[in-house]
Amino acid sequence: MELEREIAGLRCSQVLEVLSQYLDGELSADLASRVEQHVLACDWCRKFGAEFAAVVNSLREKLAAPEPLEERKARELWSGLEARL
Ligand SMILES: [Zn+2]
Repeated sequence: MELEREIAGLRCSQVLEVLSQYLDGELSADLASRVEQHVLACDWCRKFGAEFAAVVNSLREKLAAPEPLEERKARELWSGLEARL
């Protein structure tokens, strides 16, 4: 896909595949930090869709100001998204 970007060694589709695992804290520290670098640098991921963008924006907020409460909000956002898919 031409629009897809590769940032921090991850393509957008790869970030999408592991995003739920990232939010659940199931990724290795190395992969998790690469997901963070990608999401922080990639505008395309934010434009992927309204609901996905909400998850990404929530993640970016969490990374900017990491707090357990933000983490819980991101997880709830993601469960809501999964329930609609
Ligand atoms: Zn991306």
